[in-house]
Order: sequence, then structure tokens, then C-alpha cells
Amino acid sequence: MDSRVHLKLDRTAGSSIDAYLEYKRIVGDDDNGKLFTPEEYEEYKRKVLPLRSKNRLYVSWSNSQGMDCKIIGPETKCFCQHRYRQHQTDFESIPETRPIHLPCKVKNCSCRSYEYIPTIGSQPIRCHCKHFATDHSAKNDHQCTKPGCTCQNFTTSFNCGCGEIVGCHSMIVETKEERFGRGHPVAREEPGYAAMGGITGFSSLIDGYMRLDDSGVGAPPLEWLEQPTTSSDHPFLRAYDPKGVQPAKSRPGIKPKPSSLTTQKQPMTRKVASKTTYHRKGT
Ligand SMILES: [Zn+2]
Ligand SMILES: [Zn+2]
Ligand SMILES: [Zn+2]
Ligand SMILES: [Zn+2]
Ligand SMILES: [Zn+2]
Repeated sequence: MDSRVHLKLDRTAGSSIDAYLEYKRIVGDDDNGKLFTPEEYEEYKRKVLPLRSKNRLYVSWSNSQGMDCKIIGPETKCFCQHRYRQHQTDFESIPETRPIHLPCKVKNCSCRSYEYIPTIGSQPIRCHCKHFATDHSAKNDHQCTKPGCTCQNFTTSFNCGCGEIVGCHSMIVETKEERFGRGHPVAREEPGYAAMGGITGFSSLIDGYMRLDDSGVGAPPLEWLEQPTTSSDHPFLRAYDPKGVQPAKSRPGIKPKPSSLTTQKQPMTRKVASKTTYHRKGT
């Protein structure tokens, strides 16, 4: 027997889903699970959106060199295992004192301020007491909660992808001006979504050492990335270098592309070549 279910949706369904997603991005959990009425939604937007664009806080986990090893987004987990969006992220006025604390809003959670902790895939990392990070208290002293364990503070030798141990990193919660002042990217235009943390673009959620744009001071300078390709470079690089494309060098059986197409694609291929250059020269 055919037990498949065919969902028949008319053409307005897609826009309803888009509207719901937009609603979710703006409201987050602030409706406590019960959808706002259209009036409540408008009222919420009128109240919250201006505050958000004025008081957005940028959140990142940075190493001792100032590289943003992890940029915190709405779903990034805290030491307390709750997500960034479940912490206080909206402020009517920005606190004067530093560091700015972002307490967890989940009932009975003892986390006093958002704190990123790396994982191995979905596995928590271990403390020197051999117990997992998740076996330690969410309170900011992170005592071990395993019976009989005397560990007072979560400590680990786990290395971040940048090469430094976790302990060399710190949480940075800062205003747009403060972040811009440090030379790190800020949003061109605030989208008004809840709990954006440090996200400013598509590459934001990649680990800092892989990001290779200017979102961390650890990235190599542009002129280094854009060094001309030499004849001793890999054929792949030579083929993609817009300056070095010569019919004589193209591989047999592959016709050179029409010149108009090559010109159009230049900015993109150039970028690919730069990144590849980095990987090759960096190893
Ligand atoms: Zn929590
Ligand atoms: Zn937390
Ligand atoms: Zn421990
Ligand atoms: Zn322990
Ligand atoms: Zn790191």
C-alpha cells in the first residue's frame, strides 16, 4: 500500500514560511513560545529594533594574538550548554563597566555570563581531572560536580585550531565602536535580528585560523596573499591566475575560455587563487 503523504501547498505557503522565519530571527524566544499577535509583533519591533541597532554587542572568543578564533552566533553553545540566544543579548543601555556580563536566561541555570568552550565535534572536552566540561558547574568558577572529585576549576590542555591552549583565550563582549576600533569587522547595516553576537557575514562561523579574511589580526596581509604566481607554481594556480593565463600553458584538450567570460570572472578567480596560494605557502 502506498503510504506516502503528499503535502499540497499553494503558492502563498512559501511566503508564510519566510515570514515565520523572519519573525523567529527577530523575536527569538522573547514570545515565550506563544506567537505574538500581529499587533504585539509590530509593537515589539517598534520597541526593540532601534535598541538593537544602537546597542548591539559583538561577542567573540579571541586568542592572545587578538584573532577571533570563534565568533559567537545565536546557536553557539555556552559552557552552561545553553545557546547564545538563551542569554541576555538585548540591553536598553550598554553597561558602563567592563567586562560586560551576559547572564543565562534559562530558569535555574547558574551561568552568570556567556562563556564559549570548544568541543570535539559534538563531544565536550576534558578537564585535567579527567571529567568532561559538562561535568563542571556552569557557575563561573566551574567546580567539578562528579562525586569525590576535588577539582575546583575547569582546566584543559586542549589546543584550539590556532595552536594556543583554551586558557590563552578570552571572551570579548564589546560595542560596535570598540570592535571597529580594534580593527575587526562590524556589520555594514544592523539586521535587527536577535542574538547576532559577532556575526557579520557568511564566513563568520568558520574558525578564525581558517577564515583568512581580515576579521582577525592573525590573517596574512593582502600583498602577501596577492603575490604574483610564478612559473614554478602548481599548474592549478597558474591556470587560475588572471595575469598568467597563456594559451601555450593550458593543458592539452582544454580550450581557453572566451575572453569576455574570463574578464567577467576575474574578481572571483583571483580570490580563489589568493586563498590557495596561502594554503600552499603556509604549509
Ligand atoms: Zn545556561
Ligand atoms: Zn551560559
Ligand atoms: Zn575538573
Ligand atoms: Zn572532576
Ligand atoms: Zn584559538
